[in-house]
Amino acid sequence: MTIDLINPEPRTPLAKRRWRCRSASALALTLVFVGVGSASAQAREGVDVGKNSAFSNLVPADQVERSSAEQYVQMMQKASEQGALAGPEHPQLKRLRTIAAKIIPHALQWNPRASHWRWEVNLIGSKQINAFCMPGGKIAFYTGILDQLKLSDDEVAMVMGHEVAHALREHARERMGKSAATNIGASLLTQVLGLGQIGQTVTNYGAQLLTLQFSRDNESEADLVGMELAARAGYDPRAGVTLWQKMGAANKGAPPQWLSTHPSGTTRIGDIEANLPKVMPLYERVKTN
Ligand SMILES: [Zn+2]
Repeated sequence: MTIDLINPEPRTPLAKRRWRCRSASALALTLVFVGVGSASAQAREGVDVGKNSAFSNLVPADQVERSSAEQYVQMMQKASEQGALAGPEHPQLKRLRTIAAKIIPHALQWNPRASHWRWEVNLIGSKQINAFCMPGGKIAFYTGILDQLKLSDDEVAMVMGHEVAHALREHARERMGKSAATNIGASLLTQVLGLGQIGQTVTNYGAQLLTLQFSRDNESEADLVGMELAARAGYDPRAGVTLWQKMGAANKGAPPQWLSTHPSGTTRIGDIEANLPKVMPLYERVKTN
């Protein structure tokens, strides 16, 4: 009875303890979920380049993609008229399309718009050391970059990944947005002039889509995102180093077209090497599976 006097409800502490236990495990479970959620948000596997630039939002993505699709069609028609467009049975084109088919599935996580893109890969017969991916997933390689640099599949994947990364990160759209903002003033542009003026900016840029020189930051971003895309697709990201060494060596003769918009250098190779540990596990996982 003394027990009852001291503690009129002897079951309470036990009940409380049980509740505490349950609530503690519920809390622990919640923490696990929260922990997993925040861990995946904070420490995503691969490279870290932040969000797409807010300047892109000044120009509608569909306009940029439409403009680039028109440009692409014109270029391919011109190449075809000159007998310089590789047919679907060309072994090098088949090779490019095989590599693209492995890279493209990993593009979505960088830009949800990519699921609607009508991806195209073509090969143009030209000595130019050049390759590009226009907004909306319009890829082209020149035979010169494959033949003269004797690129391995891994190196092709690095070039393709880099170019696809420019498209996914919408660097052309960012450039147009910055240009529109500088020329007219962003608020004026959106509030007063409306989309017509932005459309004009896109049209003005349309013809320059292929020769756009991106900022050093954009280039570095494309290197990193590109090497991650290549690694996830099962291509050795260390090829980024040999690719730039080959580019550098070719530069001693006639400077490759690609280098005019992609300055080479030890900084570039250094950055690639520094980021290898972030993407090598992705590559190794694909290779062992
Ligand atoms: Zn680039």
